[in-house]
Amino acid sequence: MATAGDWRARAACRDYPQLRWIPNDGQRAKPDPKCLEICATCPVREECLADYLGDPYFISADGTRRRIYGVFGGVYHEYHGNRGGGHPPAPCGTPAGYQRHRRQTPKGEPVECEECNRAHRLDTAQRKEAAR
Ligand code: SF4
Ligand SMILES: [Zn+2]
Repeated sequence: MATAGDWRARAACRDYPQLRWIPNDGQRAKPDPKCLEICATCPVREECLADYLGDPYFISADGTRRRIYGVFGGVYHEYHGNRGGGHPPAPCGTPAGYQRHRRQTPKGEPVECEECNRAHRLDTAQRKEAAR
């Protein structure tokens, strides 16, 4: 019988346990960039991302609820600090939002957020203009 957890059996990352998918040294180190390339080919990327976003927390040894950071569903979910929520992520429609997507998009692939692409194009054009 099929169960909700079945997608895990088809996860592309199962074949790469040696890669660092979830940084563990204070959660600040970057995961292996190869991870995003593997996610890009994964047949269960959507299920994986939805699963992570549905409950991105774990209970640490001291009993506090902490966010899990790492690669899930083709996105590198970055460490933003456990205390006070850290930086809010850069909003969409800004050059910083574009950079946020850029960091989370595999090399050579386009950023898929139109709002951010527009902001980035505008920003690039304005910089060029200012440099003249
Ligand atoms: S999307 Fe990436 S992290 Fe998620 S199951 Fe696939 S390979 Fe693993
Ligand atoms: Zn965006």
